[in-house]
Amino acid sequence: MNTAPRLSSTWFDGQSPRAQACELCIEGSVLVLTVNGSERRYPVRQVRWAERRSHGQRQSELPDGSLIQHADAGEWDAWRQASGQREGAVVGWMQSWRATLVAMGASVVFLGAAWTWGVPWLSQTLAQQVPRSLEARLGEQGLQQLDRLFLQPSALPAQQQQALRERFTSAVERAHPQGDAPPWQLSFHQSKALGANAFALPGGYIVITDDLVKLLADQPDAVVGVLAHELGHVHHRHGLDLMVRASLISALVGVVLGDTSGFLATVPATLATQAYSRDAERAADTFAARLLHESGTSPSVMVAFFERIQQQEQQGGEDEEEGEGTALPIAISSHPDHVERIRFFKEWRPD
Ligand SMILES: [Zn+2]
Repeated sequence: MNTAPRLSSTWFDGQSPRAQACELCIEGSVLVLTVNGSERRYPVRQVRWAERRSHGQRQSELPDGSLIQHADAGEWDAWRQASGQREGAVVGWMQSWRATLVAMGASVVFLGAAWTWGVPWLSQTLAQQVPRSLEARLGEQGLQQLDRLFLQPSALPAQQQQALRERFTSAVERAHPQGDAPPWQLSFHQSKALGANAFALPGGYIVITDDLVKLLADQPDAVVGVLAHELGHVHHRHGLDLMVRASLISALVGVVLGDTSGFLATVPATLATQAYSRDAERAADTFAARLLHESGTSPSVMVAFFERIQQQEQQGGEDEEEGEGTALPIAISSHPDHVERIRFFKEWRPD
């Protein structure tokens, strides 16, 4: 004698819109549906059970395309429970584990493709659309944050700062007589964390550290070259591109995981944690080489910079402070491949 709980419900055969009275009961792993005295049997695992929601009717799909509709959600849930079925959503998930795996796989593939092609393209496109005023504000905020984290006021004599500023201004003007260079603002800072370094932020904020100025004290043209490299990042809007990319990634992850709370939260940290791509560095180096050349200086002056940075790294081997240079991956001393870049600036010729 079968004691499985029974439920009177309504059934649609999947072809006609006519509701038919039916009776349901679950016998082991089989759902038995009785309509007009005839029995239909379905494996429980193949039924797409109604998801458990707080209210509304319950609708379940059967493997032959027919439907069960039950108006009273409470009654339905009680019957499911009495039949030894677990919570709808969990059962649904377990039954559709194949679909879940496929969906997860598709998400990974989608994210991979988006990461590889879509995001760089989209972020560059979007970065080009950001108005100058917003770009400047982002850079200003970024500089304030980095200032709190890494920077102290410069101890260089004002005269020395002014001389370098003028030297760079004049090089930029000679290389861009039409005034088509991006706007920039140079500031000098001491920084324990960054060591001898320089970096640029959106909006043309360029920072050079006292240590780097001292390292190149007898090579002012190399300082110009370093600043030109940073101006190249400004020109190509690489910092903005990083910010846009970070918000796109967190948006994508948010869409896939169904959580958008982290959407904009990651943006401020981006500049402090991300590095520019090799392509971006090459573009900034090319910009610097051209600027040096067109201002009447040989791009090979940059060799002194790379050699001294390299020397410093080797000397610093013993008491290597964790984070020196790498404290800010977008900063110039954090860029890899000194040897390759020395060759680039030695061999660069105008096209
Ligand atoms: Zn760079």
